[in-house]
Amino acid sequence: MPLRFNFCPFCNEKIIFEIDMKDINSSHYPAPVYIQCKLCKKTSTFYVDSLLRVSYIELDKKPGGIKTIKTK
Ligand SMILES: [Zn+2]
Repeated sequence: MPLRFNFCPFCNEKIIFEIDMKDINSSHYPAPVYIQCKLCKKTSTFYVDSLLRVSYIELDKKPGGIKTIKTK
């Protein structure tokens, strides 16, 4: 499973999470996935491309995601 490093948009702490193709609806890209920060517990929406690279982040929970991933 690919590991991704990024920053939580709420608390700005560095986050690490694992993501797999089964975590997203791959019918169109960028595809949303919900990321729950283990530090502040808040959930944001990360949009990933077909290589599961993060394209952009939205602060709230946008429609279209199929899974919430907790950060490590
Ligand atoms: Zn956070």
